[in-house]
Amino acid sequence: MKKVLYIGFDDTDSLRGSCTTHLATLIIHEIFDQVSFLDFPNLIRLNPNIPYKTRGNGAVALRIEGEEKDLEYCKEIVIDKVKNLSEVDDENTNPGIAFVENIIPKEIIVHSQRAMWDVISIKEAEEFSSFSNVEIIKFKLGRGIIGALGAIGNPLKGDFTYEHLSYREPKKFGTKRLIDSDSIYSADKETPLTFNNIDYEYDSIMILPRGADPVFTGIRGETVEEVRKAYSLIKPLEKLPMQMVFRTNQHTNQHFSEKFSINELKPHISAIVDAEVTKEPRYIEGSHLIFSVSDSTGIIDCAAYEPTKRFRGQLSKLRIGDKITVFGGIRPAEKSHQMTINIERLKINELVKNNKLESPFCSNCNARLKSAGKNKGYKCPKCSTKFRELLPNVTEIPRELKLKDYLPPMIAQRHLTKPLVRKNRDNTSKQKQKIEINNILADLVKN
Ligand code: ATP
Repeated sequence: MKKVLYIGFDDTDSLRGSCTTHLATLIIHEIFDQVSFLDFPNLIRLNPNIPYKTRGNGAVALRIEGEEKDLEYCKEIVIDKVKNLSEVDDENTNPGIAFVENIIPKEIIVHSQRAMWDVISIKEAEEFSSFSNVEIIKFKLGRGIIGALGAIGNPLKGDFTYEHLSYREPKKFGTKRLIDSDSIYSADKETPLTFNNIDYEYDSIMILPRGADPVFTGIRGETVEEVRKAYSLIKPLEKLPMQMVFRTNQHTNQHFSEKFSINELKPHISAIVDAEVTKEPRYIEGSHLIFSVSDSTGIIDCAAYEPTKRFRGQLSKLRIGDKITVFGGIRPAEKSHQMTINIERLKINELVKNNKLESPFCSNCNARLKSAGKNKGYKCPKCSTKFRELLPNVTEIPRELKLKDYLPPMIAQRHLTKPLVRKNRDNTSKQKQKIEINNILADLVKN
């Protein structure tokens, strides 16, 4: 009788090398002939504001079906690969694996929803091992079990996107990625359902990572067909031995699900806060922009950092009294600053009027009047007539900001940020059938 197995793993990489998706691809290559896949491998990005992450806080889940002995074989492969290929010499790499059989307990789904915005302890995640169908394996501190369970518990039932990843030969790891860059521009133009390939605003190619990891390209899009088409159109100048397509929560804003009042905020969570600007934006050393907001429970600083480029210029136009919704990560207080919201996105709900007050003109000689002193009205500097009751002329200067969402440029966005190009896109219920998934995976594994 066939059984279902959910496999999650995380915290296998370090900045020196490796990548959890690469490990997943190696595992898929080994187990593909033994089992069938219920979904593409899932790349689940969790709370991007937790301090333990290497890069984008990504974890991987595989959802497979097979005979008991084949599933046991898969478990062995996963344990072997995580144990032997993780960057365990790095102090911050603490791999973890989770296996869940047949039905995912609803508590794991809740854990996963919380892992999108909150900070969870290893101990809390470890408690899931009390379920009879859950197995947890830790290496070193085993912090990876938090992400492993978080990935399993997120079956991507709502909006999702795809990412096509290609991987380099090991001898190339750490060297410059060579590619015909014109081919990236033309692939981008010919695949309207891919996105974030190039940041045209800052003329920066986004599909090539910069680190020492094994990834050569990452192409993101709405459909498997489109990301694969874009990959077929680019011209790498090195041999790429492996590729894979992941279904993912990237670019869905899934980490922004919880609203907080200011007095409820705590370090490292991803939060939505409705507030009013109470201190005007100012630049501080390093060209970071800071302003304060408040609600009925408190006041907090908000920051848009230098790498967010023109985003800072836009937010610098905020004025006291503007009503906004801030989406961001909570940076803990340190010696140099109080607890701060690191802004990832900002929605303007109401703008105060920008009124310019000017002295009126003299009705006798048309000269611009001068103030006669506080509450004393105006006096004409030319003919000396006094106007005690006259009020200033009020001109409304249009605000440069609009009632809409503001986002940093693509180069400074998070993996989870839903870009403006996806504004009206939602792939809910567009998941592929099992047979098609397995055909596509077979093709990718064959390369
Ligand atoms: P990459 O994106 O390159 O795969 P990474 O940025 O995902 O790397 P990891 O090395 O996986 O970084 O480290 C993230 C760690 O944080 C993992 O141990 C993961 O289990 C843990 N983690 C993930 N989400 C949470 C959370 N909400 N609370 C606490 N820990 C978390």
